[in-house]
Amino acid sequence: MEIKKIKQDDRKFIFEISGINEIEANTLRRSIIAETPVMAITEVEISKNDSALYDEILSHRLGLVPIKTDSKSYNLKERCTCKGKGCAKCQTTLSLEVKGPKTIYTSELKSKDPEVKSVFDNIPIVKLTGEQEIKLVATIELGKGKDHMKFSPGLVVYKHKPKIKLNNDSKLIEKYKNILPEKSLKGNKLDENSILDNNLYEAIDSISQELIKIEYSKGEFIFTIEPFGQLEPKEMLTNAINELDYKLDEFSKKLGSSKKKTIKKILKK
Ligand SMILES: [Zn+2]
Repeated sequence: MEIKKIKQDDRKFIFEISGINEIEANTLRRSIIAETPVMAITEVEISKNDSALYDEILSHRLGLVPIKTDSKSYNLKERCTCKGKGCAKCQTTLSLEVKGPKTIYTSELKSKDPEVKSVFDNIPIVKLTGEQEIKLVATIELGKGKDHMKFSPGLVVYKHKPKIKLNNDSKLIEKYKNILPEKSLKGNKLDENSILDNNLYEAIDSISQELIKIEYSKGEFIFTIEPFGQLEPKEMLTNAINELDYKLDEFSKKLGSSKKKTIKKILKK
């Protein structure tokens, strides 16, 4: 398997993977969105809530706030040395102590661990009027997207890598010049690099199949990751692969040598 970075900016990470098949590509996609541990608020202890929102709604809103995740310092609760009871290695807290009249934003959440805080400062939580007050402490834990969407680190899509063949016949170009995407042309010719970089090949194919022939490579995939902000895209990828490794090890351990032999026997029949 080979991984090559194509593009990275604030919102997207695009890379190419070769030497894998469709099943492996989809396993990786699912592992990133559903198995990569991400932090979120799991419990809220409210000691005062004068706001118009019920305690449940307030807690729900807090639960959906994306939390900057420190995946190196914290364990998943079920894999922690505390055996799921909750300790400093698998939990931390945020507190909120505010008085109206004003709109309360995520910037007001005070975090115990400076590495673990709201990704965005400007998410509105609740509006307080007059002398209304809120006092609460929220517990943050690592969790997985398969259990709740709030633990999902982002969106992941992949497609087969396209190989394109262009027809730069001057009469054809002249015919379609006015409706071809601006970035697809360089002077009076179709620009292969720009077409691939800007994903214009399908648009050109829909204009005229005389201009372009597209073939999709079976063992090469283009992945696009759009993170929600809890983890960096590279962390999403490496943590997903680590999680896959962990699951395969666990599977192998549980299978044990005697069961492996039985399965081999069954397969031989
Ligand atoms: Zn613990």
